[in-house]
Amino acid sequence: MTAHSKIDYLVIGDPVAHSRSPQMQNAAFEYYNMGRPYDKLRVDPARIGEFAAYAREHLKGVNLTVPHKQIIIPFVDELSPQSAACQSVNTLKIVDGKLYGYSTDGAGISGAIRENFGAALKGLHVLMLGAGGAANAAAFELVWQQSASLTIANRTVDKAENLARKVSGCSQGTAVEAISLTDTTALKNAIAKADLLLQLTSLGLHKDDPAPIDLTLLELNENLKVFDAIYHPTPLLQRAQQLGLPAADGSEMLIFQGAASFEIWTGKKAPLDAMRRGFKQDQ
Ligand code: NAP
Repeated sequence: MTAHSKIDYLVIGDPVAHSRSPQMQNAAFEYYNMGRPYDKLRVDPARIGEFAAYAREHLKGVNLTVPHKQIIIPFVDELSPQSAACQSVNTLKIVDGKLYGYSTDGAGISGAIRENFGAALKGLHVLMLGAGGAANAAAFELVWQQSASLTIANRTVDKAENLARKVSGCSQGTAVEAISLTDTTALKNAIAKADLLLQLTSLGLHKDDPAPIDLTLLELNENLKVFDAIYHPTPLLQRAQQLGLPAADGSEMLIFQGAASFEIWTGKKAPLDAMRRGFKQDQ
């Protein structure tokens, strides 16, 4: 495992070439005259243990993306309460050779909804598409922030049901249910009552991906806010915009989860505007 000697921070994933985290995080480090210590590295999931050993010796911090957020857990010395609850680590802080694991995806969702729609999660009726890593973190954030209800719709319905069971255990009044992504009647009911649709499946990452749901369903609720974690215009976002619904892509989620990671590593307030400018730079 090799990396440039001046690099103290990495984002790892497989693939990772598309990641805009380096330009965004380096903008934050430069804001504090701390150089450009952040880079990206593709890590084969089979070599995650070897990477963890490298990180203990040579790094100060790591961001993790698909498919590493769960498989890193056996190598982490201590998990934050959030990452233990959602069994997902997207941030490592390394101190004296020890790996401390955090999950900042929930902070990313809260920040993005506040920034994009001027709304707090508290009291919202939410339909969430997906039950993977990002959806796990979001579901815990929604119940911790006391959303009014959460419907989890996933292709593999067992995963939606498991997640609903897990988050129900820490709900303080949020009504949680699981449905299949192909159950049109249940989707219609959930959309009709939702304030917010959170798209957290990986559909939309590739140009020719189908939309995760039948897009005519968006016509059922003229007050629906639509958020898609993918950070380019997806068919879902385009249809929402055509219907005049408030709609936002995942850029602000990336900014806020990255800002939370930066604050964990440095103890300094994240310079959000500098990070936004960094995010938008050509790669
Ligand atoms: P993940 O753990 O791999 O989960 C993928 C999810 O997508 C699962 O719910 C999966 O359903 C669903 N899915 C995949 N292919 C599908 C298909 N053909 N039809 C229907 N559903 C399908 O990934 P993740 O980490 O949660 O990430 C999900 C997305 O959010 C990715 O696109 C990622 O880039 C994005 N993301 C963005 C940010 C941000 O800052 N903007 C942060 C985190 C993640 P099954 O359970 O049925 O397989």
